[in-house]
Amino acid sequence: MIRDHFRVCLVDLSKGSMQVLERGGRDQFCGGGGLAAMLFQEFGHVDRPWDDPDQPLIFAIGPLTGYFPLMSKTVCAFKSPYHDQYAESHAGGRSALSMRFGDMDALVIRGRANRLSALAVGARTFELRDVHFLRGRDALSCGRVIRDMFPGSGRRSMLRIGPAGENRCSYACINVDTYRHFGRLGAGAVMGAKNLKALVILGDRGFALPEGKAYPALFKEVYRQLTTTAIMDKYHGLGTAGNVGALNELRALPWRNLQQTHDPDADGITGERMAEDRLLRNAACAGCPVGCIHIGYVREKFQENYQYLYRQVAYDYELIFAVGSMLGVKDSFDALRLMDTVELMGLDVMSTGGALAWATEALEKGLVTEKQTLVPLAFGDAATYMTAIEHLGRNSNEFYTLLSKGTLRAAGVFGGGDFACVLGQEMAGYATGEVFFTAEGLGFRHSHLDSGGYAYDQKHEEQDVESAVDFLVEDEKSRALLCAMVSCLFARGVYSEDLLSEALESVGYGNLAGRLDSMAGNIQRLRWRTRVQTGYDAAEVHIPKRFREVVTWKGPVDDAYMEALREAYARRIMALGAPENAD
Ligand code: SF4
Repeated sequence: MIRDHFRVCLVDLSKGSMQVLERGGRDQFCGGGGLAAMLFQEFGHVDRPWDDPDQPLIFAIGPLTGYFPLMSKTVCAFKSPYHDQYAESHAGGRSALSMRFGDMDALVIRGRANRLSALAVGARTFELRDVHFLRGRDALSCGRVIRDMFPGSGRRSMLRIGPAGENRCSYACINVDTYRHFGRLGAGAVMGAKNLKALVILGDRGFALPEGKAYPALFKEVYRQLTTTAIMDKYHGLGTAGNVGALNELRALPWRNLQQTHDPDADGITGERMAEDRLLRNAACAGCPVGCIHIGYVREKFQENYQYLYRQVAYDYELIFAVGSMLGVKDSFDALRLMDTVELMGLDVMSTGGALAWATEALEKGLVTEKQTLVPLAFGDAATYMTAIEHLGRNSNEFYTLLSKGTLRAAGVFGGGDFACVLGQEMAGYATGEVFFTAEGLGFRHSHLDSGGYAYDQKHEEQDVESAVDFLVEDEKSRALLCAMVSCLFARGVYSEDLLSEALESVGYGNLAGRLDSMAGNIQRLRWRTRVQTGYDAAEVHIPKRFREVVTWKGPVDDAYMEALREAYARRIMALGAPENAD
């Protein structure tokens, strides 16, 4: 049923209670990232630390969730353990559809459970169960136990954390339905701080589809565009893993802690090699006909008489970069084994790869010792990295505990900040040049998906600071709208503003259809304002020296140009987040 207000489930883990609230603001903030920021304004505490029990962990969906394909994301918002500021992370799987079937636009979780717990919520369900026996269990085996505890159909979504979340690693992730993640900026640690090992969202109600001819006709057309045109082909075929070879050729693939951007010997981890040798099948988020999730396998010998255990592991470009090229690992099987270990620990793979790459170079340079790293970290040595990932997730000693707070935290103690590949958080896999380094370093989520900075670098040789910053601000605004709709950003070539308007109209949100531009502006400003209120100052962001030493296809990075971009973009961000811009 279409409704103008938001239906918000508010859970208090300390009291073991849930209530349902109604909130306005749909025509200003739409849903997803806009709704999450609006709710943080109400329930968040800008002046208290991220692990204060009263801080909310927010999940929000959008007005088209369940109605159109690839409106598949849930936005998770929280105060991040990584920088103690407001943050967002996005994931798909079944989470968004389960929330729609569970009749909630948002779920807000406050408080801290007395004991390690699993929470199940739905339209007709609220259950908090003691799962102290799962303490220390990895994210995958935890999933199997939780699945048995809370049986359900395909309308059930299961979120859980591994040891890294329990240990409050600053880049612990939340595993969603095994193959998707709220990966970046530490949402898993927020669950850990709340003593919440697992969250099951039960789609235990239903929702009616719009009557009349307009909706089914439009659905059919969107479906056609997504499945029969070339727009989405690459995501189903090789998937984003196809970027490995392309970026390596372009000299934009970070290798060995970004000491190089190209390796002539990259064949072992290209998308083509992964597909030939390791790909088992494709999978998809609920309701997505594209199926970009590529699942390979690892195997372990578990008995001497050659009996093997096989496990399925999802891979894509970012994962291959993070535990492949960034660590100098060139074998597809080794890369998958590392991804599998990261999954078990419940860590964010990009931050894990970046942190271990820094630690390896720090060990090479004598800034840290093997007594601290516990294993002889060396680029290309996958077996050693597997052990190191476990040390990181389990906080085995002081060194790994510190490294699990972020590379710059460790560099602050041991030195080596110059070669820390950190752009707000450990970098994404695009060494494309000045605009991307600035965009990720200062961007709202410090994500390669905040704006198309990497694409701008590849298309523009000229150095025009104002044009580049205009592009970043406008592109971010359009993506902020898509993230309020909770569209998968892979579908951004399909969901134009016109199509979004038609889609909203067809399901009964005609009042929103004419307001897209103003909503996008509201959402962009509110997200920045919330970030600034929690302590962010874009002018203070520093881009480490390693990024200034990079050589791209355009030649060496131009430090003066990057500094001009950094200053100009920081000014624009702080203006967007200024209190006088409140709506
Ligand atoms: S394209 Fe991939 S990430 Fe996007 S909704 Fe489909 S399966 Fe999920």
